[in-house]
Formats: sequence, C-alpha cells, structure tokens
Amino acid sequence: MKKYNFNAGPCMLPREVIENTANQILDFNGSGLSLAEISHRAKDFQPVVDETVALVKEVLDVPEGYSVIFLGGGASLQFCMAPMNFLKKKAGYVNTGVWAKKAMKEAKLFGEVVEVASSAADNFTYIPKNYNIPTDIDYLHITSNNTIYGTEMHKDLDAPVRMIGDMSSDIFSRPVDVAKYDCIYAGAQKNLSMAGVTIVIVKDEALGKVDRPLPTMLDYRTHVSKGSMFNTPPVVPIYTAMENLRWVKANGGVEAMAKIAKQRADMLYGEIDRNKLFRGTVKEEDRSYMNICFVMNDEYTELQQEFFDFATSKGMVGIKGHRDVGGFRASCYNAQTIEGVQALIDAMKEFEAKH
Ligand SMILES: *Cc1c(COP(=O)(O)O)cnc(C)c1O
Repeated sequence: MKKYNFNAGPCMLPREVIENTANQILDFNGSGLSLAEISHRAKDFQPVVDETVALVKEVLDVPEGYSVIFLGGGASLQFCMAPMNFLKKKAGYVNTGVWAKKAMKEAKLFGEVVEVASSAADNFTYIPKNYNIPTDIDYLHITSNNTIYGTEMHKDLDAPVRMIGDMSSDIFSRPVDVAKYDCIYAGAQKNLSMAGVTIVIVKDEALGKVDRPLPTMLDYRTHVSKGSMFNTPPVVPIYTAMENLRWVKANGGVEAMAKIAKQRADMLYGEIDRNKLFRGTVKEEDRSYMNICFVMNDEYTELQQEFFDFATSKGMVGIKGHRDVGGFRASCYNAQTIEGVQALIDAMKEFEAKH
C-alpha cells in the first residue's frame, strides 16, 4: 500500500533527493568511494558546500553581508549559541510555544530576557499581535512556525529592532526578508534535509559585539571564517540539503513553495471546517501551512483512536498530534504532495460517511 508521510520531523523529502543521496552514498561522483567515506576536505566535497551556500543565498535572496554556515547540535544548540553571540544586556522574546520557551530559558543564562508577548494562557493557539516591542533590546527573537501547535507568522514582523528567527519548520517554504534579521537558524530535518545539520544565516557586521569570551566552537565567527570547515561538518546531511535546494529551485523557488503550501493548507483546513467530525485547534488567521493540527469535534471525541486506525489503514503515517495538543497533526512541508493531502481528505470523508 502507498504510504503518505505526514511526520513532523524528521519528515518527508522529495523522492529524487533521497534517491540521489542514496546513490552518492554508494558511489560519490564515480570515485568508487561512498560520500560517507571521504574527507570533508576532499576536493570533490568543497563544491558541495559551495553550491549549498550559493543555493541558500539564491533561493532565500540573502543580501550581501550575510554568511551561511552549517553546524551540528540541532536548532536546540542555537537556543544558547545565538544569545551567547548577540545578547549584550537585554533581549526580547515572543513566546509562541515550547520551542520559544526553550530558547528563552537558554537566553536567560546570558542576560535579561523580556517576554514581549505570549499566547501561553490560550495554550499557544494564536500568534500574539499588536504588542509593544521595547527599543532598548539587542534583538527580538521569534519562532516563525510553531511546529507543535500549528501556528505560523505568515509575514516577517515589522519590528523597530534587529531580529533573530528560529525558522526550523518553515524555512524555504516562503520568501523571507532576511535583511530584518541578524541571525536566522533552522534545524534541517523539517524542511531542508535529514537530521544532523543546522543551517545558520548570520549578518557578518553583527558578530563580535559581545564582551564575554566565547568558546571557539560556539563562536559564529569560527565557522564563518572557516567556511563551515573548522571541524568535520555533517557531510551527508549537507549533501542532502544541496539536493533539496536544487529541487526547490527547479520547482520554482520559495514563491512556488509558498503557493503550493497555501493550496495544500486550503484543501485540508477546508475539509477540517466542513467535516462534522473534526475541528481545527488554532485561530484561523494564524493557521500554519506546515503543521495542520485538528481534533475530533466535542461530540465525537470517542472516535479519535478509531479515526487514527482508519487513516493508518489507508496509508497515512505520522498524523498523531503532539501530546501537548492531542488529536491529529498533518505536517505538509515542501515535499508533501497534493495527492497525499487528497488521500487524507478522502479518508476523513469516508470516515464521516461511516458515522
Ligand atoms: C524541531 C524544532 C526545534 C528543535 O530542533 P532540533 O534540531 O531537534 O534541536 C526548534 N525549533 C523549532 C521551531 C522546531 O520545529
């Protein structure tokens, strides 16, 4: 039976990206060696890093004066690394969920943290708006897509200060005004590559402004100056990122990704709103295009497990909601197909007809 992958992360990647990576793992560029067996300093690998950097800059339209680096440690390491490199006295954080809270916790180790807005009281079912942003902060930290709750900031904020963005789960799904940010980071396993690499885009001019001593590995300047080759970078995940960015570019870039993301989301939210068994969990205008969360309507909560089993029998994978929200979550990153979304909708309709 055909499987439809709705995993939240690691998640679905385009089939050709997986196949090309698999082929290179077997035989890298016809060398008779595996991509996993060569030095990161091998002359054949440098072009992979160079092309991946160039593709990030091209696809996201990164302005001059920014560096793109590849690190280990996941987005979670950036929760401390970003404040370590950018927080002098005080930073502002928008609290939109678990990941934002984890970022705040780490930042507090390095200075004063102001929670400028929060949707915690409503279990993060919306993106706060119209709040006051202090101008005496070193940066404002935002989480553009909240993977667990299914809320998303569909546009870059207009903030009176520099921003740092955790874009782990919606990077490359829409255009971003990179110039507004001193730093953008994303763990790769949601929308870019397999797990193991974190992409960081930093404004060069903003680096080196803090007084604290920085451990070599946690200083962005180390990795910028060495082109992500200070130590061994995650070779295979970087290769997969390159393949995936080639795929994004060949399929029309982030504008096209945004269009199809909206199309998928409109289809699925449309069915959630129409189907008497289900309801969405977040405020309509803040609904994520990447992580589509829904629960059984109040009269039908006892059908939850039955629907899960039914959808599983129809090939759906990874639709169980996060434990903080319950219900279901269908993650629809760039590689998700209209066919996959339609298969889920068909399962929802068929299940409704049975009840
Ligand atoms: C998954 C995720 C993280 C954590 O990523 P790791 O790479 O596992 O550390 C952080 N922020 C957001 C928005 C995420 O979706």
